[in-house]
Amino acid sequence: MIECKNVLVLYVGGTIGMQRDSNGVYIPISNEFSNKVRLTEMHDPSLAGQLKKPLKQDELILPMIGPKAIVYKIEEYNPLLDSSNMSIKEWKRLAKDVEKNYEHFDGFVILHGTDTLAYTASILSFMLENLAKPVIITGSQIPIFETRSDAKENFLSSLIFAGCYDIPEVCVFFASKLLRGNRTTKICSNLLNAFDSPNFHNLADFGIEAQDCSFAVHQHYIRKKPNCHLVVHRDLNPNVGTLAFFPTITSAQLESFLKPPTEGIVLQSYGAGNMPSNRSDILRVLKQAIDRGVIIVNITQCSKGAVSITYETGKVLEAIGIISGYDMTVEAALTKLIYVLGHHKGDYSTRVKMLKSDLRGELTMTK
Ligand code: ASP
Repeated sequence: MIECKNVLVLYVGGTIGMQRDSNGVYIPISNEFSNKVRLTEMHDPSLAGQLKKPLKQDELILPMIGPKAIVYKIEEYNPLLDSSNMSIKEWKRLAKDVEKNYEHFDGFVILHGTDTLAYTASILSFMLENLAKPVIITGSQIPIFETRSDAKENFLSSLIFAGCYDIPEVCVFFASKLLRGNRTTKICSNLLNAFDSPNFHNLADFGIEAQDCSFAVHQHYIRKKPNCHLVVHRDLNPNVGTLAFFPTITSAQLESFLKPPTEGIVLQSYGAGNMPSNRSDILRVLKQAIDRGVIIVNITQCSKGAVSITYETGKVLEAIGIISGYDMTVEAALTKLIYVLGHHKGDYSTRVKMLKSDLRGELTMTK
C-alpha cells in the first residue's frame, strides 16, 4: 500500500487553461482543464488500487516520483479569469479557500494568470499569517492545450513542492525556479522565464544538477515553520496607489494623486531613492499629504536594488517623513500597504512600524 500526500489545486484562470476564440484571442475556457490533465502523464490511474484510501472520482494522482504518491483535486473557479481582471474580491476568496481546506490538505497550488500573479502572491503572504504549509502559485505562458506549452512542467513541479516539501510560505514556481511570493515580479511578457526575484535568493531550482529528480532546495532561505495557528486577515484597504517619479512631474499632478480617498502610496523614486531636491513645490505637496496622515513608502524604480540615504536628494524624502521600503518589489510594497492600512485602521504609528518591519520575508532588514 502506498501512502499519499494530498494537494488542493485552486484554478483561478490565466493562460494556462485558455484557448483561442473565433477572433484568434485567448480566453479562459470552463470545464476543460481537468479533463485535459487527466489525459496527460500527470495522472496515473494504475496507482489507484495501491492507495490506502480509494481514489475519489474528482481526484487525480501523479505518477510516483518519491516514496509517497501525490493525490490532487482541482477546484475550478467560476468564472475563470484573466488575471488582469482580478482584485481584492478574488484575493479574499483564495485566502478563504485555503483557510477552509487547511486541515485537509498537505499543500496548495494556485493556477493563476501571469499578469497579476506577483500581486496575488504578495497579498496572500500578508493575509495568511503563520502559514505552515506550502502555497505554490503558478501558471504558464503557453496554454496546456498547445504542444510547446510550459504548463505541465510548471504545474507538475508546483504539485511536488506543495505535496512533498516542508516550505511554509506562499511561493511562485515558474520556469524551473521556486521564488518567495512577495519577492517575485513579472519580468517578461513573452519568454517562458517570466518571473524573477530581483533582491532575494531563489528558494529552489530545478536543473540537471538537482539529484534524483528532486529539486535543489536552498534551505537557508526558507522561512521557519511557525508554531501558532494560521490567522487569515481579510480587512484590506484599497485606497492606495503607486506613483513613479518622472522628470516633468508637476505639483498639480502629484496633488491630485494624493487627494482623499488616498491613504497610502508607494513612491518609486530614482536610483537609490532619490527625487529632485530643488523642487520645493513637490516636497511641499508630499509633506502636506503626510501631515494629513497619508503614508508614503519609498522604493526604487530600478528593477533591482534598494533605496538608501546615499545622496542629499534621498535624504530630503526621509526628512519629511517618507518611509523607506528598502528593497521591496512594487507588488510587495503595494500589497503590504493594502494589508497594513486595512488591518490597523487609524493607528498611524503602528502602521508606520509595521511598514518598516519585515513581516513575511518581503523586506531585508539592514540593522
Ligand atoms: N493575461 C493572462 C493572465 O494574466 C496572461 C497569462 O496568464 O500569462 O491571465
